[in-house]
Amino acid sequence: MAKTFKNFIDGQWKSSRSGETFSNLNPADNRIVLGKFQQSNAKDVNEAVQAADKAQKLWRNTTAPKRGEILYRVAELLVKNKESLAQDMTREMGKVLAETRGDVQEAIDMAYYSAGEGRRMLGETVPSELNDKFCMSVRMPVGVVAAITPWNFPMAIPSWKLFPALITGNTVVIKPASDTPLSCLNLVKIFEQAGLPPGVLNLVTGSGTGTGMPLVDHPSIDLVSFTGSTETGSIVASHCAKKMRQYSLEMGGKNAIIVMDDANLNLAVEGVIWGAYGTTGQRCTACSRVIVHHKVMKKFTRLLLQRTKALRLGDGLLATSDVGPLVNEDQQQKVLSYCKIGVEEGAKLLTGGNIAKGKGRSHGNFFQPTIFADVAPKMRIAQEEIFGPVLAIISCRNLERAIAIVNDSQFGLSSSIYTQDVNRAFKAIETLDTGITYINSSTIGAEIQLPFGGTKGTGNGHREAGTAALEVFTEWKSVYIDYSGKLQKAQIED
Ligand code: ADP
Repeated sequence: MAKTFKNFIDGQWKSSRSGETFSNLNPADNRIVLGKFQQSNAKDVNEAVQAADKAQKLWRNTTAPKRGEILYRVAELLVKNKESLAQDMTREMGKVLAETRGDVQEAIDMAYYSAGEGRRMLGETVPSELNDKFCMSVRMPVGVVAAITPWNFPMAIPSWKLFPALITGNTVVIKPASDTPLSCLNLVKIFEQAGLPPGVLNLVTGSGTGTGMPLVDHPSIDLVSFTGSTETGSIVASHCAKKMRQYSLEMGGKNAIIVMDDANLNLAVEGVIWGAYGTTGQRCTACSRVIVHHKVMKKFTRLLLQRTKALRLGDGLLATSDVGPLVNEDQQQKVLSYCKIGVEEGAKLLTGGNIAKGKGRSHGNFFQPTIFADVAPKMRIAQEEIFGPVLAIISCRNLERAIAIVNDSQFGLSSSIYTQDVNRAFKAIETLDTGITYINSSTIGAEIQLPFGGTKGTGNGHREAGTAALEVFTEWKSVYIDYSGKLQKAQIED
């Protein structure tokens, strides 16, 4: 019998009023049910938001350094439990252990970083126009935050929202993706162990429409922080806009690596391999296009193909696996349909293109690492986010053309260039229209002390992580202190 996991509301573990649960499956073997989770409805959401609303006063009045102390304890507990957290994550999400350890490590980094913010959270002091007057700005919490998260980084993405939201004095209701509720629940449990007061952080599991939508629409929510698909992000945005509430969106990507004729090709191949096939291509920063200078195309393609064919597919828990399964069967079918589209569009299928079966894989959602060559920049496989291990190779004649191809996208998350020429590197930094650019490394590997996010259809101008996260989770208050003891002229003019 699979274990049943509950919602966490107002400091208590509770069943949904719906009386219904859903199953969390292991994508490496769909016969394995990891647990039953609550199929929450609008009543559960209401209870969770009310608890967060009630806890707001206490939490915003808890000093920021004190809030930080709790986050430090969370960090320590994450460190202590890292291995078992990573194993749970591989079981529910599929990516290999080396990557799930990295996912937990992001949460640890974010916890330490945000805890330290409790003793910084810098505001400004500026000169006044008048004598005997002092001007400053301070940060205030926004209020009650709804955090809605996807399945590809089951602990890292919740942590990118929870730690900055909590350190700045907000209270939160989080709804994780139904494919990976366990990692988020494990994280919430650690907050509970660390002594976070009841109601400050609440967890409701369930579907996007049955749980996510009532959360977005709840009248007491002040800010929605969402990561997921562009389609859902746009629905969330329209609901928030109608209700005049704040929202921060982190959505898709169609990230590209440029390989110039002077590049270290072995290094570039490694970068493309891990950018394209790491997390089975299911990263928002995954490299799904590689734009190669025509002079090195032949050699690069040969090296890449060799390396791709050597990748070992299997259960992410096994040390012999380089690439795990896709998260679910729908995702597997979606990737398959894109491979068919690629062939129909006239791209040349060099390897892969199909569901992967064979020993240890027949009950999982495995997919062959796939390469398409001779891809034209306007083909659908070069424009749409596939979210699977599918790479499109595009040829270019010079840097200007390569940059134009990268920028010809509805998205603008991550980009990269491999070159030994500092002038080309700086030109790329300046002109690639993405929120993140890497030089001589892949499109992946963000560090939490820098802003994370993208331009165009990737987001709505906000960034997560770094000090940029403070802009999302705080409101500015400008403070004027007049100690002149008289009515100063400019006060009545402005
Ligand atoms: P993905 O393809 O990565 O699952 P989604 O955008 O479908 O991307 O899901 C991201 C998160 O948004 C998940 O937690 C999902 O349950 C939630 N979600 C989906 N639809 C809605 C919706 N209409 N309102 C609020 N949340 C939603």
